Amino acid sequence: MGPVWRLVKGEKDMCHRCGKEIVDFPAVGRVVDWTFHPQEKYCWECYRYVAPFVDEISPQSETPFQPVTKPAIP
Ligand SMILES: [Zn+2]
Repeated sequence: MGPVWRLVKGEKDMCHRCGKEIVDFPAVGRVVDWTFHPQEKYCWECYRYVAPFVDEISPQSETPFQPVTKPAIP
């Protein structure tokens, strides 16, 4: 199973790429036994940057990516 994107909510963490503090953030990882295991977590800025590369890493992924929905920014 290829990598999937999930929106993680209410968890404080650090962006994998730029180190910025993030609370509601997109994470890429794998689903094992119906549980999501994030491998890398990003802020929205970095997500926009890395998402196309993650698509390229696994072009023949059997399951389509589950894109996260960007929350409305007030
Ligand atoms: Zn970042």
